[in-house]
Amino acid sequence: MTILTRTNAYGQRAWRKARLTHLAHSPQCTDCGAPATEVDHDPPHDGTRATFWNTDTWFSRCKSCHSKQTTTRDGFGFRRGNKAQTRVAVVRVASTRVGAW
Ligand SMILES: [Zn+2]
Repeated sequence: MTILTRTNAYGQRAWRKARLTHLAHSPQCTDCGAPATEVDHDPPHDGTRATFWNTDTWFSRCKSCHSKQTTTRDGFGFRRGNKAQTRVAVVRVASTRVGAW
C-alpha cells in the first residue's frame, strides 16, 4: 500500500512547473510586495488533488510571509491542537489519500 504524502505532491514535476508559471505571472508577495519565491495554498489544501490544484487558492508569497502564514494558520498542514487530535487527523487524511493522487 502506498500512501502519498504532501511531500510527494510538492515534489511532483507538474507542481514545480506550475509553481514557476504562477510566480512568473504574479511575481510579488501578496502580503508585503517583496519578490515572491513561493506559492502558498490559502486556504490550505486538504490533501486531495482537487484542492491542491485549485489555482484560486494559490498566492505568491515571499519566504518570510509564507512561513509566517504556515506557522500561524496551518501548523504544518493541520490545525494546531493537542497531540491526540493531530494523530487522528493524520490517520484520517492518510487513509483518504490512498489512491487520491
Ligand atoms: Zn512577503
